[in-house]
Amino acid sequence: MWDSLWVDVGLATLAGPDPYGRIEDGAIAVKDGRIAWVGAREDLPGPADSMAAIVHELEGGWITPALIDCHTHIVHGGQRAGEFEKRLMGVSYADIARAGGGILSTVTATRAATEAQLLDSAVRRLRPLLAEGVTVVEIKSGYGLDLDAELKMLRVARALQERLPIEVTTTFLGAHAVPPEWARNADGYMDFVCDEVLPAAVEQGLVDQVDAFCETIAFSPAQVGRLFDAAALFQLPVKIHAEQLSDLGGAAMASEFGALSADHLEYLGTDGIEAMAESGTVAVLLPGAFYMLHETRKPPVARLRQAGVPIAIATDSNPGSSPVTSLLTTMNMACVLFGLTPAEALAGVTRNAAKALGRLADRGTLEVGKVADFVHWSIDEPAELAYRIGFNPCQTVIRNGVPTLLG
Ligand SMILES: [Zn+2]
Repeated sequence: MWDSLWVDVGLATLAGPDPYGRIEDGAIAVKDGRIAWVGAREDLPGPADSMAAIVHELEGGWITPALIDCHTHIVHGGQRAGEFEKRLMGVSYADIARAGGGILSTVTATRAATEAQLLDSAVRRLRPLLAEGVTVVEIKSGYGLDLDAELKMLRVARALQERLPIEVTTTFLGAHAVPPEWARNADGYMDFVCDEVLPAAVEQGLVDQVDAFCETIAFSPAQVGRLFDAAALFQLPVKIHAEQLSDLGGAAMASEFGALSADHLEYLGTDGIEAMAESGTVAVLLPGAFYMLHETRKPPVARLRQAGVPIAIATDSNPGSSPVTSLLTTMNMACVLFGLTPAEALAGVTRNAAKALGRLADRGTLEVGKVADFVHWSIDEPAELAYRIGFNPCQTVIRNGVPTLLG
C-alpha cells in the first residue's frame, strides 16, 4: 500500500530518451517520502483506489520534478537600485565603484547587517522562488570577505531552512572578490581564505561545496587552484565562476579538479568545452546576468550540446548583476537569449541543476527511489513553462510526498 497516488495528469519525468521524459496519462506514487512507482496509468498494478491511502485525481495539467535553483547569492545586505538608476543616466561603472558602489557597497551592507536582517530579507526574496515550485536552492557566501561576515552569511543560509519549506545547499565563496583590506594583495587574501576562513566554516559544518570567481577582476586560475587544493583536503566538491568576461581557462582548470559545475561561460573556448565533457562538469548558464549587463557574447550552447556537456540554468540572484527571483522567467531568458529549447530549459532547472549540486542520485527526475519532490502545473504542455513571462501556473508543490503550504 502506497501513502499517496497522483493520477489523471501528464508527467514530464526528465528520464529516458524523450527530452521531457513525457508520459501523457501518468501516475506517480509515494511511499515514505520517496517515489515508489511512476509510469502510465494503464500500467498501474491494480485499481487506483486499492493502491494507496490517498488518491489525488488531478483532472489534467502536468507534473514535473520540483525545480532547483543551483546558483544564487540570495543572502546579502542592501540593494543596488540606485546604482542601476545611475548607470542608466550615463554614470560609468568605474565612477560608481570609485564612489563606493558596485560589489563593495554590498560587502559594506552585508557586514553591517544583523543575522536577523539578512534572514528576513532573504526570506522575502525566496518566497517567489518557492511559489514557482523550487524546493532546493544553492546559496553562496561571498559578500562578507572576512572571517565573521562569511560565517554569518553561511549561518543565515542554513537557518532559512527553519523559516521556509526549502532545502538549502551552501557554497563557500570567500574568493568572490579581493576586499579593500587586501587591495593589491590577492595572493595574501587567498592564503587567508585557504588557511583561516574556509577551515573555520568547515569546522562549523557550514560548507557543502566551494566556489571561486576566476576573472581578471578577481582571481587567477593559479590562485583558484590553491583554494581547490584546500577544498580537497576537506573532501569538498568545487564549482567555479569562469569565462564570464574573458577566457582565462578557468573551466578547464576546474574540470581537472572534477568540478561539479562551471558557471557563466560566455567566453568558454574549445579547450574548456572538451575538458568539461571529459570530467562530466555541468555548464551552468546565467541569462539574468547576461540580460542585466547588456552583454552580447553568448555562451557556446551549440558546441556544449554537441560535446554532450549537461546544461543547467539558474537565477544567479544577486543585488548587482542579476536581481532575479523567478526561475520561470530565467527559463524564458535561456530560450530567447541563448537559444535553449524549452525541454533543455526544463532539464536545466531539474535534472542538470541536481547534477550541478551533486544531487542527481536523489533529485532532479521522476524516478523510483528519488525524493518525492514534484510540482503540479496548470499547463497544457510542458513547453508552456518556458513560454510565458510573468505568469505562474504552479498549482501545488509536493515536498517529500506531501502537498506543502508555502506560508
Ligand atoms: Zn554568481
